[in-house]
Amino acid sequence: KNKAKRFREDDPQKTFADIAGSDNAKKDLTEIVDYLKNPSYYQRLGAKLPRGVLMVGPPGTGKTLMARAVAGEAGVPFYSISGSEFIEMFVGVGASRVRNMFEEARKESPAIIFIDELDAIGRSRGAGVGGGHDEREQTLNQILSEMDGFSPHETVVVMAATNRPDVLDPALLRPGRFDRKVTLDRPHREARERILGIHTKSKPLSDDVDLAAVARRTVGFSGADLENLANEAALFAGREESQLIEPRHFDLARDKILMGAEREQVLSD
Ligand code: ATP
Repeated sequence: KNKAKRFREDDPQKTFADIAGSDNAKKDLTEIVDYLKNPSYYQRLGAKLPRGVLMVGPPGTGKTLMARAVAGEAGVPFYSISGSEFIEMFVGVGASRVRNMFEEARKESPAIIFIDELDAIGRSRGAGVGGGHDEREQTLNQILSEMDGFSPHETVVVMAATNRPDVLDPALLRPGRFDRKVTLDRPHREARERILGIHTKSKPLSDDVDLAAVARRTVGFSGADLENLANEAALFAGREESQLIEPRHFDLARDKILMGAEREQVLSD
């Protein structure tokens, strides 16, 4: 087996239909999808490919899912790393991982590279306690130089996710780097209902489960929270040996999730 860690994901492909709501984000990203599907057409028109897209939004709002869906819609391979992998790595290891991933993706171009938790490596340089952090800085510099080094025929789009755009090094946001921003918000009521629809599609619901009512009572829940809610409801039904998921299972699941959120709040206070 290849000893080098592979970056390519070959999970079942996602599409925009797997994401409820976020219509503006989808609209903005459709342009990138078209480009990836048909690079030579755009190149002939002299259009430059957007290199980097920054996806900004709170945890669980589907940033990763959206990046996968862009790859799925365009039918191109998806490579991913997370900023948090690079914490406490030996100097030089992070930079070489970045170099290897970009090399793989270039070979398979057109392709998407996804960097989750960009802020973990992309914090403003020299701003941390004790000034510079060699390893992180080298990794960040490697990302910047890879993005600057694409040649025009390499159709690789780098998508990165963060919930802390305010701490990012301004060098990341310069033209030719992450110069496009796509925002994902917590879902409003109607989007919550549709997200619940997606995540209960293959679950046996009793006829009196009203997803619109569940959506009304889950203000502030992210897409990930709603997915979790549907799963917890199924688990409560299972514990009662019920054949169907009943409204009360959703109530129990909601209380459990809200209680967990409260506990986290208390612990972090
Ligand atoms: P984090 O910042 O915590 O990494 P994220 O914004 O990248 O989170 P995802 O990991 O993409 O969020 O979302 C987690 C899961 O929540 C998704 O795999 C999906 O199942 C569900 N989800 C989130 N948003 C939506 C949505 N709009 N529609 C359907 N499912 C969603």
